[in-house]
Amino acid sequence: MKQNVISEATVLEEVKKAIAQTLKLDKDTIQADHSLVKDLGAESLDFLDVDYRLEQAFGIKMARHFVLEHIEEMFGEGSAIDENSQLTEKAITLLKVRLGENGPIELHPGMDMDEVPPVVTVQGMARAVMDVLDSLPERCAACGHGNWKSENSLRIQCGSCGAEATFTDGDTLIKEWLTKVQEERKIF
Ligand SMILES: [Zn+2]
Repeated sequence: MKQNVISEATVLEEVKKAIAQTLKLDKDTIQADHSLVKDLGAESLDFLDVDYRLEQAFGIKMARHFVLEHIEEMFGEGSAIDENSQLTEKAITLLKVRLGENGPIELHPGMDMDEVPPVVTVQGMARAVMDVLDSLPERCAACGHGNWKSENSLRIQCGSCGAEATFTDGDTLIKEWLTKVQEERKIF
């Protein structure tokens, strides 16, 4: 189901807060279309830190692996990244489906793997959180009621029995998405 217990605006604010804390920046200077690497100076370990903060805040599990790693695992070694650590045309096609055409970095076949992290924007991270929150089941597994709420908190709870909501983890969601896109478009 498409959850609307926690709004997209709330998620975006929380992502900005997590980034501000990790990178020791003023939250109000962070824009939704900022690239974490290019505009805010994040390094790869910072992503883990931001993810950790978001996981604690929302009670979710973010993806541990980027979509390219999942492509390699699902469609075979070399399907996303060639022997020179460059992205394949198919990988670029897929990334454009996922990230859109108007990101902070132009996506092109042959681009180096190291050029990929700058593609991630603040809005993109918020979308990743929303994807996980959207996996909220229709009904509480403990009591069967569909009465979710998030009072004074970013944690969604059952309004009937108080159980905490459980979500699908980020890696599983990426795999499900890849399977769906592959069925529709036969990229690989
Ligand atoms: Zn319940």
